[in-house]
Amino acid sequence: PSMDSVKVAVRVRPFSQREKNSGSKCVISMHSRTTTTIQDPKNPEHVKTFTFDLAYWSHDGFQKDKDGVLISADPSSKFAGQRDVFHDLGRGILDSAWQGYNATLLAYGQTGSGKSYSMIGFGANQGIIPTVCEELFQATENQGRNQEHQVTFSMLEIYNEQIRDLLSRTKKPGGLRVREDQQLGFYVEGLKLVPCQNYAQIERLMEQGTKIRTTASTNMNASSSRSHLVITIQFKQVFLERDLTKQSSINLVDLAGSERQKSSGSEGDRLREGSRVNLSLTNLGNVISALADAAVGKKVLHVPYRDSLLTKLLQSALGGNSRTALIAAVSPADICYEETLSTLRYAERAKKIRNKAVVNTWTLM
Ligand code: ADP
Ligand code: MG
Repeated sequence: PSMDSVKVAVRVRPFSQREKNSGSKCVISMHSRTTTTIQDPKNPEHVKTFTFDLAYWSHDGFQKDKDGVLISADPSSKFAGQRDVFHDLGRGILDSAWQGYNATLLAYGQTGSGKSYSMIGFGANQGIIPTVCEELFQATENQGRNQEHQVTFSMLEIYNEQIRDLLSRTKKPGGLRVREDQQLGFYVEGLKLVPCQNYAQIERLMEQGTKIRTTASTNMNASSSRSHLVITIQFKQVFLERDLTKQSSINLVDLAGSERQKSSGSEGDRLREGSRVNLSLTNLGNVISALADAAVGKKVLHVPYRDSLLTKLLQSALGGNSRTALIAAVSPADICYEETLSTLRYAERAKKIRNKAVVNTWTLM
């Protein structure tokens, strides 16, 4: 098995209308394909530098093409659009899938920082998940006759420490249960795994799932900011003449907003939801810290995978059998300085994790 570190990318979005209206200043700069700096708006001489695998400047230097796709405004622009992000991260996932490695992509950042934009996309600016699915099917169509492919799709959310199947209309009280199998590791009992023959099917499923996603909303927290969305694609290749099978499990995760939960006029249930989501994300942070410590040779007795649903489901993605990437989405605005800095620090710890990805292959005797 090869030891892979988690590939970490940071992406900065354009100002929102609200940030523009309030005269926000941009505190983020990117000087190369890997460095990101952040300036403390209260102490402008305090500039912190972070080095990640990839730095995506999506803040300015763009224009819309005739279809509404954001593209570079001129050749000197360092603007990175959806295609650029797909080119690095989405391609990597597809390559892993074809080789029989498990792959995971996580989007982390505060609410409104651009996680869903990168993962799912908006309108013509299609995100990584649909593009990965589309290209996966395109590639299978170009394979020879002595190969068979099976693709299954599942979509769940973790909300209030409960798992909800987003492809099922019946809501199970208390949520679906996570079980542990000697070989499979943790899995969700009774989750719908829908076999798919083409991209259009997946597109419909994603639409359906997005509709079912909980729509309880308080003054500032729509459910998507409080829940984790996990899409899993199982990809199996059967090489008929060689009696050989390769399998890859692709996890695509749009995490809940990383901001510290404030009591935003919400009470009772809402407050509990807030603290629970926090617990799940906090625990992800604890797992990442433990693995980061272990990677630099510190003695780590216990990695708390079992302390939350999210970390159970992500166990193999974190320090296990998966090629994993994290995209840290940040706002450019001075008013988000503290949250952005904490996102960059989180990403810095994730960078240290080492995974042992192995090809999932077997022969039929
Ligand atoms: P999150 O999922 O982190 O809460 P969203 O992805 O919904 O945030 O993004 C918030 C808003 O910012 C959306 O209106 C989205 O269209 C816009 N946005 C985010 N990232 C980008 C980007 N890279 N380019 C253009 N617009 C973006
Ligand atoms: Mg979102």
